[in-house]
Amino acid sequence: MSQIAQTAQAERVSAHVLGFPRIGAQRELKFAMESFWKGQTDEAALRATGRQLRARHWQAQAAAGMDYLTVGDFAWYDQVLGTLALLGALPARFGLDAGKLDLAGYYTMARGNKEHFAMEMTKWFDTNYHYLVPEWTPELSFDGGVDWLFDEIAEAQSQTQSHQVKVVLLGPLSLLYLGKVKSGPQHKSDLHKLDLLPKVVAGYQKLLARLRDQGVALVQIDEPILALELGKEWLDAFPPVYTTLVSAAPPLLLTTYFDTVSEHADLLRSLPVAGVHLDGVRGASQLQGFADTWPQDKVLSVGIVDGRNIWRCDLDAALAMLQPLHDKLGGRLWVASSCSLLHVPVDLADESKLDVEIKGWLAFAMQKLEEIVVLKHALGGNADAVAGRFAAARAALGSRRSSPRIHNALVQKRLKAVTEADAERTSGFPARIAVQQQRWNLPAFPTTTIGSFPQTPQIRQVRAAYKRGEIGHLDYMNKMRDEIRLVVEKQEELGLDVLVHGEPERNDMVEYFGEQLWGYAFTANGWVQSYGSRCVKPPFIYGDVYRPEAMTVGWSRFAQSLTQKPMKGMLTGPVTMLQWSFVRDDQPRSTTALQIALALRDEVCDLEKSGIGMIQIDEPAFREGLPLKARDWKEYLDWAVRVFKISAAGVQDETQIHTHMCYSEFNDILPWIAAMDADVITIETSRSDMELLDGFGHYKYPNDIGPGVYDIHSPRIPNVNEMVRLMEKARGVIPDQRLWINPDCGLKTRNWPETYEALAHMVQAARKLRETTAIAATAVNAA
Ligand code: GLN
Ligand code: ZN
Repeated sequence: MSQIAQTAQAERVSAHVLGFPRIGAQRELKFAMESFWKGQTDEAALRATGRQLRARHWQAQAAAGMDYLTVGDFAWYDQVLGTLALLGALPARFGLDAGKLDLAGYYTMARGNKEHFAMEMTKWFDTNYHYLVPEWTPELSFDGGVDWLFDEIAEAQSQTQSHQVKVVLLGPLSLLYLGKVKSGPQHKSDLHKLDLLPKVVAGYQKLLARLRDQGVALVQIDEPILALELGKEWLDAFPPVYTTLVSAAPPLLLTTYFDTVSEHADLLRSLPVAGVHLDGVRGASQLQGFADTWPQDKVLSVGIVDGRNIWRCDLDAALAMLQPLHDKLGGRLWVASSCSLLHVPVDLADESKLDVEIKGWLAFAMQKLEEIVVLKHALGGNADAVAGRFAAARAALGSRRSSPRIHNALVQKRLKAVTEADAERTSGFPARIAVQQQRWNLPAFPTTTIGSFPQTPQIRQVRAAYKRGEIGHLDYMNKMRDEIRLVVEKQEELGLDVLVHGEPERNDMVEYFGEQLWGYAFTANGWVQSYGSRCVKPPFIYGDVYRPEAMTVGWSRFAQSLTQKPMKGMLTGPVTMLQWSFVRDDQPRSTTALQIALALRDEVCDLEKSGIGMIQIDEPAFREGLPLKARDWKEYLDWAVRVFKISAAGVQDETQIHTHMCYSEFNDILPWIAAMDADVITIETSRSDMELLDGFGHYKYPNDIGPGVYDIHSPRIPNVNEMVRLMEKARGVIPDQRLWINPDCGLKTRNWPETYEALAHMVQAARKLRETTAIAATAVNAA
């Protein structure tokens, strides 16, 4: 009898996590990677850092009282690339031998080099983590690659006698699904991903047999695609694939997460695996149904501690949810994190500056380990031993529920008073654009930028010095004003039509606003891996969002005073403010978004009052907020559009509202983008050669639109003809009088010489286009 089945016989509940953050509490792995890339350290040094981190993370799991140590959640850059290296399925174009791969070769795939562009990166489901996209070609083999995982297992086994090792693998179907079919010189792209399945399965069989021989007690096999709306051909592949895999494998625990999988209950019950994991946070309603009919010989692992947010677990509520499941399942119930803890910061103990009351409401990865074990003990008849933990959690929750920091009567009153009319401008777009054109007399194809200008090391130094208290407020203001003056001068010299102030005072588009709003808080060290060595420190929203005073008016008014041309005010939209933060779990996301929208609405109106006639409300994260299942899209899009409109609609017709979106496939949500009713939208399109714009043409997008003609992610400076050609493509689908010319996104990551040259080309391109358009500038000017 396998160990997992033995455990299932006992009443004893087991505890585990689906994965632990690999980057290190002090971002040790980031710094080790970066010094290796710079050639300052060698592979041995980098490997030593990895080994220390893994040992520390296993030690933490053992000390907390986990039953399994999770191995295989570590990655030198990304877990998907790690899986490819393990299987030997490296993208063919790099010409690397998987058996002899070293870390330098591995990083070539992740980051590219002079000869090869890097692997494509995309978001891991609806998280802010980015994985490297496998490249599927017909001749790819999955026969085996690096031994790194086997070494890590041996490492873990040598460090513990008392704990069993659980190995995490990305499952074969999710791996295949997440890749992209690539066409090469020898073949067309008529390959279907599932055509590779037999080879993939054979590769996993070999791998699993080797893990069994190595004495691995359990393999956690992640199949997160089950939370998506999967096609029949993918679902049908599960039973035969898993029937094949279990034959020579250690016991398999198949994990699903990020959403409910209740529609696949029959499938999951019938798979020949030792157990299944369900997300009990995002899919709480599915738990009892699974438990009621769960086969006698299988474990059901329930992810009850949230791996996607930073709130302390409501232990009473969690226990109340687990107890009836335990009554049914006994020791076949396991307690876990909802998903990997990769998506939360490592340790709250490192937050020394955080307000103590607020700190008491939070739990990072280290704290979540304890919560899982406390729940395990409570279920296992050890309630007395953990009564103190429950009491502490209850007290923290009580303080959070009643704290005046959370509840703001003004905000509550305001929320109640919101009407449908608050979301609507006075007139429709045709009437608005007519008065706006009269007000500004802009030429055809007006030129503008997206907001930020190069953030030079000097600007960063001044901001940092101010933050550390090394320079005073006046000094800081003057330095920033000098920067704004420079940015305005350059834009006038270039001949741009609609100017921006350049955003020198902003380190980050969410943090800048979050720091000025009540209800937002910031950690000192709450880093979460975004991709490779890049980490983000998302703010968290704990209370009702309230704007005590204007946030941008001073800067915008100063910038406008320097020029006769229109100066765009620049704000981060409510959906993006929400999406790039950890959010409250005690009210719907839509309510928090509405609070942010009301704060922004006041800012928009204040900008208008102070003479700013164009205001851009950025929503780069608008599409990212889409739920995993398309059937849930409408509900999200409806409220997301509404909160955007509420933030924008407080102004007169003659005030022009802009929005900006990037990194998006817009076509499937075009009706909602149109429903946002911004007067002008600027979007990223240059990398797709304007193909992204086709949808706007077919759909007959009604308002003004500025398709990006300059890819700001690349140091390459496009020439005038190239930009003209892109705009000619745009003119094929959008009427001339609706078109603007602008870069793809903000310029903050570029340097001045390249920015200046690219924008000079852009202005020349606009002039060329004006020579060929039927809308005479005078037709507008005469009005
Ligand atoms: N206004 C912002 C900027 O220019 C927009 C950034 C973004 O879209 N991500 O930097
Ligand atoms: Zn952008």
